[in-house]
Amino acid sequence: MYNPSKVSEAIREFHSDLTAIRRDIHNNPEHAYKETRTAALVAERLTAYGVDEVHTGVGRTGVVGVIRGNRPGTRNIGLRADMDCLAMTEETRLPYASQNKGYMHACGHDGHTTMLLGAARYLAKTRNFSGTVYAVFQPAEEGAAGAKAMMEDGLFERFPIHAFYGLHNAPWVPLGSMAVRNGAMMAAADRIEITIEGKGGHGGMPQFVSDPVLAAGHVITAIQSIASRNADPADSVVVSICAMEAGVMNTYNVIPREVKLIGTVRTYRKEAQKMVIEKLNLIVDHTCAAFGSTGKVNFIQGYPATINHKREAELSAEVGRGVFGPENVITEIFPNTGGEDFAFFLEAVPGAYIWVGQGREGGFPIHHTCYDFDDRIIPNGAGLLAAIAEKELE
Ligand SMILES: [Zn+2]
Ligand SMILES: [Zn+2]
Repeated sequence: MYNPSKVSEAIREFHSDLTAIRRDIHNNPEHAYKETRTAALVAERLTAYGVDEVHTGVGRTGVVGVIRGNRPGTRNIGLRADMDCLAMTEETRLPYASQNKGYMHACGHDGHTTMLLGAARYLAKTRNFSGTVYAVFQPAEEGAAGAKAMMEDGLFERFPIHAFYGLHNAPWVPLGSMAVRNGAMMAAADRIEITIEGKGGHGGMPQFVSDPVLAAGHVITAIQSIASRNADPADSVVVSICAMEAGVMNTYNVIPREVKLIGTVRTYRKEAQKMVIEKLNLIVDHTCAAFGSTGKVNFIQGYPATINHKREAELSAEVGRGVFGPENVITEIFPNTGGEDFAFFLEAVPGAYIWVGQGREGGFPIHHTCYDFDDRIIPNGAGLLAAIAEKELE
């Protein structure tokens, strides 16, 4: 009989083994597409747990474990973890802190990999489901689109996944609870580069100059009207200019010929993204022209928005109530303006992306030099993934 709380209880039996694995991965972080040690560890563990097949090198350093249920079925589901770290220096002083200088598991992907290993161990042992579970360990989530690389390497052709589930630890959700919602979970994360060209010259004789710095100032101010005046107030749009390059700091009397602005745009809907692109071009063109400069916008699309599918989001919440307790499943939550490449999977197949809470007083946010994954949430996250598999393939 399907009982989600029993699943995380069963996984609690190997909590200390899993904690040791998590700390070992934390100790040896590997960056995008260089996750060779981590992938080898994952493959070795999956084999030891007795999964039916282990496929390595999927999307360069990705690994897929295949686990068949104890009865035939036509439906297969995917469970996903990301394995990569960030290029930043750890300052936690933990005994298992990174020994790979300049690299750190500051987003908790060490924990995600461990939780999926825990789910795989339980599922390979119990096999209390029909059909097949694919445990997908992807490379390069942080900016280098490892999910897309796995798809381009034939992930869905080789492993026909009918519903896909992934999770992320969430310091913004209380410890002991989880959050999932139907629709947007994370925003599309795009990059903008604006180049403004004028005519440089003497700072004391502006009448002979077309000042691109002045034009840039007006552009920076004017594009804030996109989020405040053009976006639907019930929708969310972020347009941020984060870096600016103009002139030379030790030269006080030369107006430069060119200014460069770099920034990011976050949207949840394709229509909003399209509107931002149009307005950016309009504002930059006309504002620069008014100040005697020319402007060019380069809009570089990053990860799309992570949009949960209704059925899978509801199923995750239902299973989660069994694992975390009915009062600890949050479905009324705002989406987050970070980016996530699980979005590519959710554009291709139905599924849901879930936040597992690790929020507590004094904790650090993800991508902080003092961040650490909270090992106490391993049985909950692993139990949630395994219980979703059992529910999906009941
Ligand atoms: Zn991250
Ligand atoms: Zn992450």
